[in-house]
Amino acid sequence: MYKVMIFIDGTWLYRTLPRLAETCGKQEFKVDYGVLPQVIARELSERLGAGSEGIDVVRNHLFASLPTNFDPLDENLITRQEEFYNLLKEDYHYQTEIFAIDFRGRRVRHSDRDPEDSFQPREKCVDIALASQLLYHAALPWTLDIAVVVLGDRDFIPVLNTVRRLGKRVAIVSVRSSCAQELADPRDEAGVKDFDVVWMDDLLEELELRYEPQQLECQSPDHDGDRFFWTTYRPRRGEPVYCDSCRQAYSERRNGNSYYEEEGELEDYPPLEDLPDLGETLDGTVEFKKEEKGYGFVTTDEGTSFFFHLSDLEGGLSFETLDEGQEVVFEVKSLPSGGKAGAAQNVRPPDMQ
Ligand SMILES: [Zn+2]
Repeated sequence: MYKVMIFIDGTWLYRTLPRLAETCGKQEFKVDYGVLPQVIARELSERLGAGSEGIDVVRNHLFASLPTNFDPLDENLITRQEEFYNLLKEDYHYQTEIFAIDFRGRRVRHSDRDPEDSFQPREKCVDIALASQLLYHAALPWTLDIAVVVLGDRDFIPVLNTVRRLGKRVAIVSVRSSCAQELADPRDEAGVKDFDVVWMDDLLEELELRYEPQQLECQSPDHDGDRFFWTTYRPRRGEPVYCDSCRQAYSERRNGNSYYEEEGELEDYPPLEDLPDLGETLDGTVEFKKEEKGYGFVTTDEGTSFFFHLSDLEGGLSFETLDEGQEVVFEVKSLPSGGKAGAAQNVRPPDMQ
């Protein structure tokens, strides 16, 4: 039985895999981190000629970073990233080490920042943390036989050399377009590996996260009958979900259009030209409140819905004081897209401006 530990450069993987998937025509590609260790184990056992029961993946380590001090407009984005790290830890038992990157109030995505702004986020500690854990485990006599590293940067060459000098084997998992020449080299002049590289390029089909259908509760206030419906869509925490017929009815009421194009493709909904601007102040009505969960929706006169959480109320305002049907004003925190509601902030009664 070979004891295997996996060490993932999470920052590299996020950057690399979606780009790779896109070149293969897969948009919105997500890795199934639950199957990743099994796929790696199978590839290794093939290289060892060991049979998959010969491989015991004893631990998965993931090293990555999380923005702090970023523009509040990116709060949803970062909350989802944080939830993702929690999922890895809680559902898949990854050992995660996450380091903060100071964004100094900037937007997180480069494309959202002012092109004139020379600010470069500086990631701290991630590489060194990976190298330290790897060396620590490799230096102990009993913890692992094979260290699998999922990465592509040449900075890791010295630590991979050292792990092998300690008598442990190294397997590299990488992506062809984002792997340093020295790591990929089949002749291994740099002395960094004991196996042919496992190329994720060849494993995309298996690694893609495919959601199993699950039952959700339709949150449309107009819903008729049984609220539960099956969907493969995974809403993020607190995001409203409408069943197909409610979304369609809602859309028809609003535009006289069908939600679906003839081919069944999902349209941008509501139409882009009707969308307000980010930060714009709008009037609306509290259409629906989920008391026990602390969230609700406001709907504008045009019929566009915005999600709000109790933390999105104007300072000092308590959730209980807002009633369904009540008129409010709010600012647009995020815009609706792809059938999902937008988000509101600073929700307050009109007389509280
Ligand atoms: Zn419904």
